[in-house]
Amino acid sequence: MGTYERTTVEGKKHQLTGRAGISSAMQRSPVEKPPFTLGDIKKSIPPHCFHRSVVKSFSYMIYDLTIAMGLLYFALVGIPALPIIPRLAAWPLYWATQGSILTGVWVIGHECGHHAFSDYLLLDNIVGFVLHSALLTPFFSWKYSHRRHHANTGSMENDEVYVAKKKSMLPWYTPYVFGNPIGRVVYIILQLTLAWPLYLGFNLSGQPYPRFTCHYDPYSPLFNNQERIQVLISDAGILAVLFVLYKLTAAFGFWWVVRIYGVPVLIVSALFVLITYLHHTHLALPHYDSREWDWLRGALATMDRDYGILNHVLHNVTNTHVLHHIFPSMPHYHAMEATKAMRSVLGEYYRFDSTPIIKATLREAKECIYVESGEHNGVYWYNKSGGSIGSSPPCQCHSVVAPSTSPPAEPGRGSGGEGRREVLEIWGVWAVGHGGVYGAPLMLRHLSAIIFFEVVKLQACNNGAAAGGVPRPLGIVA
Ligand SMILES: [Zn+2]
Ligand SMILES: [Zn+2]
Repeated sequence: MGTYERTTVEGKKHQLTGRAGISSAMQRSPVEKPPFTLGDIKKSIPPHCFHRSVVKSFSYMIYDLTIAMGLLYFALVGIPALPIIPRLAAWPLYWATQGSILTGVWVIGHECGHHAFSDYLLLDNIVGFVLHSALLTPFFSWKYSHRRHHANTGSMENDEVYVAKKKSMLPWYTPYVFGNPIGRVVYIILQLTLAWPLYLGFNLSGQPYPRFTCHYDPYSPLFNNQERIQVLISDAGILAVLFVLYKLTAAFGFWWVVRIYGVPVLIVSALFVLITYLHHTHLALPHYDSREWDWLRGALATMDRDYGILNHVLHNVTNTHVLHHIFPSMPHYHAMEATKAMRSVLGEYYRFDSTPIIKATLREAKECIYVESGEHNGVYWYNKSGGSIGSSPPCQCHSVVAPSTSPPAEPGRGSGGEGRREVLEIWGVWAVGHGGVYGAPLMLRHLSAIIFFEVVKLQACNNGAAAGGVPRPLGIVA
């Protein structure tokens, strides 16, 4: 049943991908108040698209888990029986395939977090908790911070992640990182390998809060009193999975766990960081400050993308994100049909870019560095010449957390202690990233990141810089 639905929807996808060429995708989105309301959009979508079916939702989950089990069997039994050369080639094949399938499983967990899996909140919470814990995501903690992203999308002041920076907020090392192709590739690798654990553990590139912010801390400012107990349940889920991994390591060895589980889970986090980065980072998307922001325009400031065959594997989370921001509790198996239907109302407010993903990633990393005010007050756009930032002003990013009283530094360099701290941060990210790039499992990256940032925090305190602020290494977002 699920397979038939997938095939039908996949066929319809091509009608959608023909909806806008690459050049029109680069034209800026309209920023005036839309001539339609949320109600108008809802009326344009067939009512059955809002229906959540337990049977259908489970069919997709079982479909994915069956493939994942088949791939696991191939890794445990098939690959070791191969001659050496095909065996070496089979492992990357296993990692890429299993990582993609498990990202689809993660997407179903994300759907549970939006209460889109079924009509039963408890069932959605249980399924989401199990699926996300197994992939080392703290389900409830992330569910609540993700809700803030949905409530404040596109807001310069209040979005939870992907908060666009003005040029004056860039750190001094920005030209060295983004001003050349090697720096940008390193940035992309670091973003894909480290952004997720560092966001969860240290709120890296998240919305600044007045105190240390961590998804594992029930008293983190991310959560209210009703949510704290569920944060602890999320932590218990992660600890349980870590315990199983510890037992597996003791039984089969560290590299066995890395090969079978660590690399695919690393690919899961890399894939959804890439997907969400490209959804919210584009020259044609506006960012609003409090003078202009409203929920609907923020939700529309989102770019659908085309990942080819992965659209299907990832349950179309890739090419229906505009719809997801407008109706987050709609199940993924209706998202394509609903996207097609609502486009007649959205018109130019609907954004889709079919640029091949690798090309788009390199382009966005080069061009989407900082935003500037456009013709409309309160509306900001990424500056296309972002990649050629030759003389960046001094770093002021930490003043977002705690305004600095120290005199401004000379252009291109941070001031004394802050400069030293940022050098430390860069080397720290490199050091932690080294482990990630070579396939260390997420649990070890979490641990090494925690140790490193405790050292950085101490260093920051010693230098008297930005008291209470969390160091923010590169502009990595999650
Ligand atoms: Zn989003
Ligand atoms: Zn979401």
